[in-house]
Amino acid sequence: MKIVKGFRDILPYDTGNSDTSFAWTTTTDQLRQIMKTYNFQEIITPVIEHDSVFKTGIGEDTDIVSKEMYEFVLERDSSTVSKEKILKYCLRPEGTAPIIRSVIENSLSKIKSLNKLFYLGPMFRYERSQKGRYRMFHQIGAELIGSDEILYEVEILNLAKEILTSLNIDNYTFQINSIGNNESLKNISKAVSNFGRKNKDSIEEKDYKILNKNPLRFLDKAVHNYNFKDIPKTIDYLDKKSLKRFNDLTKILDSFNFKYSINNQLVRGIDYYNDLVFEVTSSNLGAQDALLAGGRYDSLMGKFGADESKSIGFAAGIERLILAMKSKNQASNSIDFFIVYQQEEMIEESLRLALRLREVGLSIEVDLLRRSFTKQIKSADKSLAENIIIIGKDNFNNGTIVVKNMASGIEEIVSLKNNIDFFLKKTKGTPNEKK
Ligand code: AMP
Repeated sequence: MKIVKGFRDILPYDTGNSDTSFAWTTTTDQLRQIMKTYNFQEIITPVIEHDSVFKTGIGEDTDIVSKEMYEFVLERDSSTVSKEKILKYCLRPEGTAPIIRSVIENSLSKIKSLNKLFYLGPMFRYERSQKGRYRMFHQIGAELIGSDEILYEVEILNLAKEILTSLNIDNYTFQINSIGNNESLKNISKAVSNFGRKNKDSIEEKDYKILNKNPLRFLDKAVHNYNFKDIPKTIDYLDKKSLKRFNDLTKILDSFNFKYSINNQLVRGIDYYNDLVFEVTSSNLGAQDALLAGGRYDSLMGKFGADESKSIGFAAGIERLILAMKSKNQASNSIDFFIVYQQEEMIEESLRLALRLREVGLSIEVDLLRRSFTKQIKSADKSLAENIIIIGKDNFNNGTIVVKNMASGIEEIVSLKNNIDFFLKKTKGTPNEKK
């Protein structure tokens, strides 16, 4: 039996092929904590949605929807329901459209005029799998729904940057651009269409079709897949209002000493964006170097038939964040104490002590295989225990045990009874932290 291609197990030990579950939970805990410092609240939506959420939200002819979505119908339905009524489901390929679906469906904008939401969970895209690119991957994303205030753009950009700095990621480039409001977007599309027509002979047929359907998506392809020198730059086609927004934003970013570079050909492959778009890439990653991306999407609610609500957000790939991190949190699956006993008759006493110590939140291992003392010590060594507790024959008879620190080798003899504080002090945490 084999795992599905492009999917991964997250293992308890480092086998060189995956992230460890320790790195995973430490990173995701840290990410949730960062969201809390910016007062973004978690929203958890299902992994399965109706395909229309993405077809309407992201756009039918985007790569994500037209090529990469895991779509399915229930086999049962195909024999019991008429063809037109068969429901089409999909595994979500991204987080924003479902969040907006949920905000509308649950009237969250009526509860709060400004919603600051974040999500963390798996996404699915049928892409060619390679290092850093999986068919099931995880994103953490933030969505700020209900304002087009530029200072909130600064907040979102700072939050994105905070994720990188908190995780100790350097070697990254923060690229920003504006694709402008509807008026500007029309101008850009016209310019790109003209450019494409002029260069028709150098453009592959499939890309030329995209040009006709969606010039902005062609622009994205032209930048990445062709060597044209004079591809239109979005900044040249922004109307006054959009240009002012972008200039105001960069001024504030400069005053906050926020380092970015402007890439006037950054557009993003999704239909719902307007004005600010941004992307972070890292040289710590290989070919798949995008760490995080986002932008403003004022028209998405309208596409779903609801009142428009000005919104901005971003998503970061968690696998790639872990890949790019300098120190990987891989080290420690360590435990506080490994209890070893000299004779089998002490096994129950060992278990009793383990229970008492676990009650106060300490992590404890006891070898219950009734193996020799030497073998137990070997297991304790391998377990990365900070300390071992030795229940020895001599000490046991007078109600004491030996606690040995594995790093320093120092041994202490302590009473077996009423000494919880001693054990708590031996480990770094206080009782509360441990619990
Ligand atoms: P996107 O939703 O395409 O803007 O992607 C946002 C972020 O998700 C990217 O910058 C990547 O870090 C991550 N990401 C996107 N696709 C994949 C994938 N197939 N495998 C792993 N990470 C991905």
